[in-house]
Amino acid sequence: MTSYTLLSAAKINLYLEIIGHRPDGFHEMAMVMQSVDLCDRITLTSLPMATQRLQCDHPQVPTDSSNLALKAVNLLITQFPELANRGVEINIEKNIPVGAGLAGGSGNAAATLVGLNLLWKLGLTQIELEELSAQLGSDIPFCIRGGTAIATGRGEMLDPIPSLSGLYVVLAKYESVSVSTPWAYKTYRANFSDRYADIADSATLEERQQRVHAGPMVTAISHKDTEGIGHHLYNDLERVVLPAHKNVQQLRDRMASHGGLGTMMSGSGPTVFTLAATLETAKQIMNQVRTDLPDPDLKLWVASCTGTGIRLEADH
Ligand code: ATP
Repeated sequence: MTSYTLLSAAKINLYLEIIGHRPDGFHEMAMVMQSVDLCDRITLTSLPMATQRLQCDHPQVPTDSSNLALKAVNLLITQFPELANRGVEINIEKNIPVGAGLAGGSGNAAATLVGLNLLWKLGLTQIELEELSAQLGSDIPFCIRGGTAIATGRGEMLDPIPSLSGLYVVLAKYESVSVSTPWAYKTYRANFSDRYADIADSATLEERQQRVHAGPMVTAISHKDTEGIGHHLYNDLERVVLPAHKNVQQLRDRMASHGGLGTMMSGSGPTVFTLAATLETAKQIMNQVRTDLPDPDLKLWVASCTGTGIRLEADH
């Protein structure tokens, strides 16, 4: 039996702007995404019969067909009916917190697509895998590509920008608090749709998309201006998630008070991150936050920004 083990990296949003509401029910986004090396470990083993099995060591992760990794298997089988007699066993070792705004599930789907491409010798290119994966979730193409990228459309249209590798990040999440991504977007729409561009007007849409390409965050990244990157962190979804979770607001305030380059919530939260220029500073901030908020429910990590989304750990 052949097996591959892959590592799927978490992502943070350095910039997240909701531009408008699309006719297909999704939102038009302008984002800057960054991979961080807090990784899940996914092992794919071929089975001699047409069966798909999945195990995961995290109790909040479903092991039925709603798991994004199994959805990725089914997407490939639907796309290539000749694969219908193939079987695979998937084992997920979860290190990325669940429902955290870190795209953990999307990363698992990305690793499954990359891994099955190897295991089943499909010969798909990375671009083909990215295009296919967009059918499953807006963040999955970025999870396959990794690194630092501007993401527009639903989040699936990617433009690479210079890698931020070399910066560190402190991640903090209350274990018992999760935010549903659909809830966050629905609540934003209910309260702030007056901020949306009229996307029926393609000139306005393009102008708003260009604003991120030419905007201060991307300029700061291009110039490796780490102070500027920290200063221009932005996330529209903080407007709905922080008022609904006072402890996350308090956590964000505490983290910001300890310096670092900048502090922001990632994606739909509730993970809050602080960027730091060195590993030592990141560890100091983590220790200070732990001292300030000695709640056993609060989990903290230090990770580095990485240029890789999915990487192969070992093949046998
Ligand atoms: P995103 O940032 O992409 O919105 P998230 O980090 O907020 O995602 P996930 O950890 O991906 O959230 O999980 C969201 C939900 O998806 C979970 O509550 C879980 O029920 C479901 N799910 C399905 N497959 C997976 C998976 N492989 N790993 C984690 N969650 C999964």
